[in-house]
Amino acid sequence: MTTPDTSENPGTGTSGTGAVPSGSGGPVATVADLVAWLRRGSELLSEHAAELSELDAAIGDGDHGTNMKRGFAAVVAAVDGAEFATVDELMKKVGSTLVSTVGGASGPLYGTFFLRLGTSQKGVEALDVHALGAALRAGVDGISQRGKAMLGEKTMLDAWIPALDAYQRAADSLPMAIRAGADAAEQGRADSAALEARKGRASYLGERSVGHVDPGAASTALLWQAMVETIADSAPSGTDSSRDAGFDLADDEAATS
Ligand code: ADP
Ligand code: MG
Repeated sequence: MTTPDTSENPGTGTSGTGAVPSGSGGPVATVADLVAWLRRGSELLSEHAAELSELDAAIGDGDHGTNMKRGFAAVVAAVDGAEFATVDELMKKVGSTLVSTVGGASGPLYGTFFLRLGTSQKGVEALDVHALGAALRAGVDGISQRGKAMLGEKTMLDAWIPALDAYQRAADSLPMAIRAGADAAEQGRADSAALEARKGRASYLGERSVGHVDPGAASTALLWQAMVETIADSAPSGTDSSRDAGFDLADDEAATS
């Protein structure tokens, strides 16, 4: 988990400090946008904590909601009042906070996700649609490696992987890619019910895990929802300094690219 995954860096002129990806020229997610995502994620996880723990009670030990609520409250506390110049500085704080405050499988797994997301984007201040996709992919690869899990084993990856695939298919536009990812995460959450658990506590139940939604897939879908409400919905109104011409950039991108 400590090995930086440089293979995910898209190489869009981001080698200097404080660089902004030059690739698409479209909207970007700034460090401030990523903080807004984490804050909204924390709110949604807190609102849905009881539901997440109920899902976990059915096939695990009933703590996923309290784990996520506690972990993300600690993340918000850690980023409050702090300054982060780059994506990797922010994500190092987020990942290490989750690892140290969340017991259970989900702490190290989500922690690894954010740490890898950061190390794939060293020195970068903002992520365009391609860089965000590469960063999310690096994070999800980290979950897969750390958890020794793959698609179809009834874990959070059953929301993350379809979400990223959908994101990448819609990657002409940042807001559209995020919305496509969130829809697929939601579908992956629902579809996880049909799967038999092969990793984590739920795997002890074998066939009896079938028919229940995976709690980690459900928390992943909430993080995607938070990404829509913050990064996607704020993107058209001008995180892109070169193109804030007062028109709806999301529609423009959809029509032209
Ligand atoms: P614990 O199972 O230790 O109580 P949580 O309840 O917080 O931890 O998290 C459970 C969730 O973690 C599962 O629903 C699943 O999505 C995810 N998970 C567990 N093991 C793995 C794994 N090996 N790889 C990926 N995700 C996993
Ligand atoms: Mg649990």
